[in-house]
Amino acid sequence: MEESRIRERITELNKQLKQYAKEYYELDQPTVTDQEYDQLYHELVQLETANPNFITEDSVTQQVGGKILEGFEKVRHEHVMLSLGNAFNKEDLLAFDQRVKKLTDRQISYICELKIDGLAISLTYENGRFIQGATRGDGTVGENITENLKMVKSIPKRLSQPYTVEVRGECYMPKDSFLKLNMAREESGENVFANPRNAAAGSLRQLDTRVVAKRNLSSFIYSVAVFGELTAISQSEVLTELKELGFNINQEAEVCHSMEEVWTFIQKFQELRNTLPYEIDGIVVKVNEFAAQEDIGFTVKAPRWAIAYKFPAEESETKLLDIEWTV
Ligand code: NAD
Repeated sequence: MEESRIRERITELNKQLKQYAKEYYELDQPTVTDQEYDQLYHELVQLETANPNFITEDSVTQQVGGKILEGFEKVRHEHVMLSLGNAFNKEDLLAFDQRVKKLTDRQISYICELKIDGLAISLTYENGRFIQGATRGDGTVGENITENLKMVKSIPKRLSQPYTVEVRGECYMPKDSFLKLNMAREESGENVFANPRNAAAGSLRQLDTRVVAKRNLSSFIYSVAVFGELTAISQSEVLTELKELGFNINQEAEVCHSMEEVWTFIQKFQELRNTLPYEIDGIVVKVNEFAAQEDIGFTVKAPRWAIAYKFPAEESETKLLDIEWTV
């Protein structure tokens, strides 16, 4: 492709992706599936990788998606909330494994976790008391949604220990709550939500906490930003500590010692995903040991020590919606 044409295509893709991101993050009304979005994003990454001179600071590849909405107080994240790099096939995973092993000499294992399709949240506890809950926003500044998160039953208001910690996880809407909500909205002539993720995001942005309470949201917590008194030295240990503190932890996480084991885990949950009571859109593969994570580090947008394998297009969320409505 000619240079001018490449530059044009990069601009075009950025414009299109920014419009989709606005519909997804700000309006909670996506007009394309995640797979269509991911395909265009992938094309942009490839063009930018081959032509690094054309990368602009405001490219979607250089920023964490999302924007702070009016109506909520802003919260500055002392520890940024990042996104994840993507993998779409076994080759991408093998390339990730090679990159990781070039960046650390330590013996590593991986931990596979379900990629919960909800909204990233950050929860702060002081002496064991829940004092602040925030959205990811643009990664640096999020929305203060403490009062809304107090309405989510699985989020402890007091921990089992008087610890001062900041944890990260996903707030999501279980599939049955989503179906009931959409049915009720249809009956009352309101717009239905496209999928549980958008329903969860829309619910957490309600200014009336009573509405949030009725939406039956839930949560899974999977990481720590401020460790306080926690002593874990690996992701698998941190999940155990978080559980002991009273957080809801996804039980399916599994430590793997090779990419073959990672692939087996992925295939298993690709099969099982429709039987789960909550929506997942992939598998997150993380280097398990924190010391190795530190060696490996971050890009501007995501940790280099983790990757999100995205499930293929034929199992798209719109298809899921159709199936679920007919049962
Ligand atoms: P992402 O959703 O691909 O991955 C990062 C997020 O995964 C984290 O922020 C976290 O919230 C979540 N996550 C879930 N389970 C996790 C776990 N166990 N461990 C760690 N993180 C976990 O990246 P993103 O930046 O949040 O969003 C980009 C994606 O959003 C796109 O790839 C696309 O699928 C979707 N999107 C869709 C549209 C659309 O119009 N359909 C528009 C914009 C973005």
